[in-house]
Amino acid sequence: MDELHSLLKRFFGYSTFRPLQLDIIQHLLKKEDAMVLMPTGGGKSVCYQLPAIYSPGVALVISPLISLMKDQVEGLRASGIPAAALNSLMPEAEQQQIKQLARQDKLKLLYISPERVKAEMRWFLPHLNVSLIAIDEAHCISQWGHDFRPEYTQLAILKERFPQVPIIALTATADKVTRNDIIRQLHLRNPRTFISSFDRPNLSLAVEKGLDKKEKIRAIVRFIKHRPRQSGIIYCQRRADTEMLAAELQRFGFGAAAYHAGMEPQDREAVQEAFIADRTRIICATVAFGMGIDKSNVRWVIHYTMPQSIENYYQEIGRAGRDGAPADTLLFFSIGDMIILRRFVEESGQKEINAEKLEWMRRYCESSVCRRRVLLSYFGESTTEDCHNCDICKNPPERFDGTILVQKALSAIVRTDEHVGMNLLIDILRGSSQAEIKDRGYHLLKTYGVGRDLSFGEWRGYLYQMIQLGFVEVNAEEHHVLKVTPTGRDVLYGKQKAFLSRFREEVATDPYKATPIRRLCSSNLEASLLDALTQLRKQLAAREKVPVYHIFTDDTLNDIIEQKPTTLEDFAEIRGVSDLKFRRYGRVFVSLIRFVMRLPKLPPASETE
Ligand code: ADP
Ligand code: ZN
Repeated sequence: MDELHSLLKRFFGYSTFRPLQLDIIQHLLKKEDAMVLMPTGGGKSVCYQLPAIYSPGVALVISPLISLMKDQVEGLRASGIPAAALNSLMPEAEQQQIKQLARQDKLKLLYISPERVKAEMRWFLPHLNVSLIAIDEAHCISQWGHDFRPEYTQLAILKERFPQVPIIALTATADKVTRNDIIRQLHLRNPRTFISSFDRPNLSLAVEKGLDKKEKIRAIVRFIKHRPRQSGIIYCQRRADTEMLAAELQRFGFGAAAYHAGMEPQDREAVQEAFIADRTRIICATVAFGMGIDKSNVRWVIHYTMPQSIENYYQEIGRAGRDGAPADTLLFFSIGDMIILRRFVEESGQKEINAEKLEWMRRYCESSVCRRRVLLSYFGESTTEDCHNCDICKNPPERFDGTILVQKALSAIVRTDEHVGMNLLIDILRGSSQAEIKDRGYHLLKTYGVGRDLSFGEWRGYLYQMIQLGFVEVNAEEHHVLKVTPTGRDVLYGKQKAFLSRFREEVATDPYKATPIRRLCSSNLEASLLDALTQLRKQLAAREKVPVYHIFTDDTLNDIIEQKPTTLEDFAEIRGVSDLKFRRYGRVFVSLIRFVMRLPKLPPASETE
């Protein structure tokens, strides 16, 4: 067991396991099958990479995307672990070379794409000394999952041909039906299921309600301006939106690119490569993006449109902050999007299940309690603590008796014969002199101008609450006009009171401000240190032609800034500094830290170092 810890430090640079990692590894070493459920960024890879290093022979890793394999293999090699990937896009000679290495037992991990498995089972795979088999993104085998891939259904052959070899199936998808389907289809034998907490406390959560297109773009620009030099993803439902947004952001001078399934494969590849290499900071993408990459320094994720389920949402925000350092997320919610999604659901195969999933998503967006608690309760985890890292916790709603305010709005709706949409209603309440109001004679209504005391944004916020509380309904069939519900009538006629949450437009804490990555980066010294370290990492990455996070992750830089190691011994203790990385980069980093801290130079390298 101590040997496992020392391997963890030596190859990955960590001194402690994350929850469940050690249990899973020990289970595999007993040659037993395992089903692992961990959120994206939870640390699944170590669960099979470490036993692969520990055991004699080579571990097979089945992974659906070529780009993902490439990134993982590069990462492993950067830590001194012999690994390779086999896929159909490689030249034949290179494939032969890799097979040769595998046969000679010179690889610890071999990544294979699922469609290759069956073919390679004839000549190649049976000749290997296979230590274990890992099936990543295992939900792809199930039609119940959200990402079914027919190639995965051939993987049952693995257990058949390698009955003695332990299989570990890994996924970040939660539901039980999918999980059982995976176990059944892969023929796992008495597998133990490991479910880790879905909590990712380093992700901040925020929801912004009811903004129109222009306002969303303005909000996004503000959000990005607070985050210079950070990488992020903006998810959209429609391809057209990805292109529109990328163009808008470029107009503001940001390096942004679009990514969607309608693009040529080589264009998509190019966009992805540029993102990984930090040449393009911002990707506006449909959900197709992100599954294939392991980029650990994505610092924020925005949802331009709401996803269809909490699973999707969680997986997508999970692509931020995989290195464990703070990362921010922002979701835009609007009734319009909700209506479009409802229509999708109506037309989908599993109508009831999908409607339920969408309903959860709405509940999340409209929550007036800690959002993380809502998320975790969806995954069946209950907590008694608020998270202090979501918009609700940071700016808790203050409740007040809003009966009169609600009555004003409801009475205006009734007096317009339920013929107006939200924006026009607000204009009536605020006594606007716009033409449509005069034309339709609404300026003569008794309710015209009764809500001048509130801003447009405040009214919109309260109307959203009235919808959420079931006083008002939006009629999708009829140009989204507002209607008063029976409960609404009770409030209107004074039979029931209405309590609202205080809506604050200008909140003290700007929700668009970045959560400081370097929490302790308070002093000038730390700021200079951060600059210097980032520069050095960038230079090294450029020289070695690898992404910066393969040199050191943001989390490792954080730890360096916190610990300020000024000797080689102290540097070796930093989170994420493996043996190989210590030998490669220890001296330059410590020299730089000493330079910034105005300490004398390190003594020259001795023989023993
Ligand atoms: P996923 O579950 O999405 O496959 P990864 O395996 O990519 O997640 O791990 C996410 C991040 O967490 C990586 O940067 C990885 O190096 C880091 N990590 C994994 N295990 C540990 C650990 N025991 N201590 C600290 N960081 C870890
Ligand atoms: Zn919270």
